[in-house]
Amino acid sequence: MGKHQRDRNQSGQAQQLVTQEAERYSSFRLEMNAEVRELVEGGGAIRGVRYETPDGTREARAALTVAADGRDSLVRQQAGLRVVGTAPPIDVLWFRLSRRKGDPEEPTGYIGGSRFVVLINRGDYWQVGYVLPKGADQGVRAAGLESFRRSVGEAVPEDADRTDEIQDWDQVKLLSVQVNRLRRWYRPGLLCLGDAAHAMSPVGGVGINLAIQDAVAAANALAEPLRAGRAELRHLRAVQLRRELPIRILQGLQSLAHRRIVAPAVGGGGIPSPPLPVRALLGLRIVRNLPARIIGFGIWPVHVRP
Ligand SMILES: Cc1cc2nc3c(=O)[nH]c(=O)nc-3n(C[C@H](O)[C@H](O)[C@H](O)COP(=O)(O)OP(=O)(O)OC[C@H]3O[C@@H](n4cnc5c(N)ncnc54)[C@H](O)[C@@H]3O)c2cc1C
Repeated sequence: MGKHQRDRNQSGQAQQLVTQEAERYSSFRLEMNAEVRELVEGGGAIRGVRYETPDGTREARAALTVAADGRDSLVRQQAGLRVVGTAPPIDVLWFRLSRRKGDPEEPTGYIGGSRFVVLINRGDYWQVGYVLPKGADQGVRAAGLESFRRSVGEAVPEDADRTDEIQDWDQVKLLSVQVNRLRRWYRPGLLCLGDAAHAMSPVGGVGINLAIQDAVAAANALAEPLRAGRAELRHLRAVQLRRELPIRILQGLQSLAHRRIVAPAVGGGGIPSPPLPVRALLGLRIVRNLPARIIGFGIWPVHVRP
């Protein structure tokens, strides 16, 4: 079995877990290979979506449409919801290298020589993030694949002999880093969640956790109103109120990390040493452990209400 096949299987298993649970509800229906193209509006509210399938265009009508279509959300754009955001000074080249016996289990980061490279353990391969100053992608590609392989090998010498696995630029995806959020996450009949409501940067790896917590907060706030037949604006507002503060704090921390750590590291300036009071605070174990706690548990975590 090839690694792409195994990856598909892993994400397939996660999807299976969710759908098996959902199938316990007789009204649940899952439609794959369906791409939303348009919102259906009527009477001042969103009434559903029009979408493309291999069998043609279809329409789904709903009391509430939930947009979880990620950081390039078409739905939030069509709904005319206002986005506020910052422009992080970095982008990421995203590719895989194989894992071998004896490789560390933990995610690993390498900083130095104007390079910032992160390796995330995805079982049988490393998901590698090679951070660049914003807009530098064209220059890297123009310099050629061999130069890129060499640069990766210099940043991660332990894996230098694996860089020839990068055979084609098609294996290297540019992920444009965004940090933004909607002023209002909802309109009558529509609620945005996850990156569609607040695009997160990869820093800290908190985006998936936050998106799942949004979904839990929405279920807690909306299950009863939807069972009663309608979700009103105040119910949708309650979801945003519950989630907005932790997200704003985390986006603030991500922006700080972009400016103070990542951008100087890839700009060749090295990471500036924190001021003395900060260094003193970092000496305290409770402060040192704080980032791990925030990444692992989030700020003001949400729990499923029985
Ligand atoms: C380079 C990079 C690395 C990251 N690494 C991490 C990490 O290691 N850990 C972490 O927690 N977070 C990470 N993040 C952030 C994380 O990816 C997001 O915060 C998280 O995936 C948001 O989840 P979501 O469900 O809202 O959106 P997504 O995961 O983006 O899911 C959106 C889904 O909607 C689908 N979709 C889009 N448009 C349509 C349409 N029109 N019709 C139908 N379907 C549609 C997409 O195909 C996709 O499946 C990273 C981000 C970047 C940029």
